[in-house]
Amino acid sequence: MRDPRASIPAVDSLIGSEAFEDLLCQYPRPRVVETTRKVVDDLRARLQRGDELGDVSEPFMYATIVELTLSSAEVPSLRRVLNATGVVLHTNLGRAPLASCAQQAMATAASEYSNLEYDLGEGVRGSRYAHCVSLLTELTGAESALVVNNAAGGLVLAMNTLARGSGVAVSRGELVEIGGGFRIPEIIERSSAKLYEVGSTNRTRSEDYAEVLETGDVGTLLKVHRSNFRISGFTEEATLPELVEIAVKRKAFVVHDLGSGLMIPAEQVGLPAEPRPHDSVEAGCDLVVFSGDKLLGGPQAGIVLGRKDLITKLRANPLCRALRLDKVTLAGLEATLRLYRDPDRALRDIPTLRMLSSDFEELGDRAQGLADQLTALEVDCEVVEVGGSVGGGTYPGVSLRSWALELTASSVADLGVSLRNGDPPVIARVMDNRLILDVRTVLPGQEKDLIDKVSEALVSLVEP
Ligand SMILES: *Cc1c(COP(=O)(O)O)cnc(C)c1O
Repeated sequence: MRDPRASIPAVDSLIGSEAFEDLLCQYPRPRVVETTRKVVDDLRARLQRGDELGDVSEPFMYATIVELTLSSAEVPSLRRVLNATGVVLHTNLGRAPLASCAQQAMATAASEYSNLEYDLGEGVRGSRYAHCVSLLTELTGAESALVVNNAAGGLVLAMNTLARGSGVAVSRGELVEIGGGFRIPEIIERSSAKLYEVGSTNRTRSEDYAEVLETGDVGTLLKVHRSNFRISGFTEEATLPELVEIAVKRKAFVVHDLGSGLMIPAEQVGLPAEPRPHDSVEAGCDLVVFSGDKLLGGPQAGIVLGRKDLITKLRANPLCRALRLDKVTLAGLEATLRLYRDPDRALRDIPTLRMLSSDFEELGDRAQGLADQLTALEVDCEVVEVGGSVGGGTYPGVSLRSWALELTASSVADLGVSLRNGDPPVIARVMDNRLILDVRTVLPGQEKDLIDKVSEALVSLVEP
């Protein structure tokens, strides 16, 4: 019998064939040639292994495979997705979606020149670190502020600047891991400071800090907000004012790693009390560190508030340059912060706050509306009450009462895969073998996409 490999056309003749005409109009010739060569090599290898591939002489078959390969390579790696998990600050899904004024400010900063490091008054070089300072000090009462790439970076910078070569005291109940392998003890070590553990896991008193300060080896007291877990029962911790009081006597610094940057009273968002940046400033902390993209609802950033002399030192640290924020983010952060001058507007315009404070009845109406549309498309679904979460390592154990669509499928896992394969992908939640789409985190304007993708996913399950 004739070797089937002999019927594979030569790459040159494929490229020159009529089947490849359209492809060559769409893609650069070298990419088409290279991809075709790979397809041909792959086919030859399969035939050599003995795979039955039928007729391999037809150029149109090659054109189809090449087209598919090239077009799938065009799908971006970072894509928009629909978040139907009910987790508002989903770290894996990019945390906070931004307010429209922040989006606009970012688009302008991205597309035009700006006074990023230019002093318009004097016509000389300025500082990128000057931009959000007055807004931050106005909103929080801090003396000064510095914005860097993220809160983890802000904490490293603060520790490296204040505590390099000296001791940092942290409660044993606060030696936490924040996520992504960011552990407080290691951060202190990497900042060239020495960790002094004080108190116990469940109870740390202000005397414990006072005692370690007596040794003379400790120059900084670091308090870490337990944002992503809770301890309860027989517990005790020193308050910030207590720490400040004992630190002042010993000329030590108090740094608060606050994590989330909730700027308005928690009850306005319908959440339990959570310490806010300006509470830490008011308590007398020397530096306060928090995130731009958690409860603040802005872009990824790390905000450090505090004493003017210390912020100046932080800026002068060479590490600051390595942690600097880019102009697009800076523009988005400034626009987001400006919204907080009018807290009602912040609640309305900042998607994170709006989703957190969504009215339970309204969520029910939205879920019902979506269910009606799906039913009209003959999709089986039910409106169910669920509990979502805040996410982003904040508010552990707090459940956000919400409404969701529960979809019916013979395999919940397969349906999940099918939804993720959509364009845009839909990320659902699987709970006790049920597939749940929580409407809280589906953004306004995404309803039609959600309906389309759900019905497409169910169809593709039936006829893959
Ligand atoms: C989330 C968090 C951080 C890290 O913030 P990023 O902006 O994600 O780097 C640091 N400390 C605490 C207490 C946190 O909750």
